[in-house]
Amino acid sequence: MVTVVDTTDPRSLKALAILETAHGWLKCRTKDGGKRFGIPSQSEANKYHLVDCQSCTCQDFTRRGLACKHILACRLYCARAKAQQPRPRHETAPLAHQSRVGRMFHGDGQDQDQ
Ligand SMILES: [Zn+2]
Repeated sequence: MVTVVDTTDPRSLKALAILETAHGWLKCRTKDGGKRFGIPSQSEANKYHLVDCQSCTCQDFTRRGLACKHILACRLYCARAKAQQPRPRHETAPLAHQSRVGRMFHGDGQDQDQ
């Protein structure tokens, strides 16, 4: 999923501002076991919107049906969380030992005592 953050789009900027408050989001579960974030409403105190990466309970989303600032913030949050997960390291194949052919010194001109 590609989430575009457009610095000329007020909704994107609001989403970034909301992302800054991610530490205060509630972690909720719906009856069907889905995960939602409870993101505090900026217009109404003590009100939370239930948000995931696809839907939101705010008026902006329910009226327009398009990703609102909360959904954008949620997507950014999820993308960031994913990026911060430690990745399993791939075993690096042992480097093939380069066998150096030892220089062979041929004793030319060996002294012969006899
Ligand atoms: Zn919303």
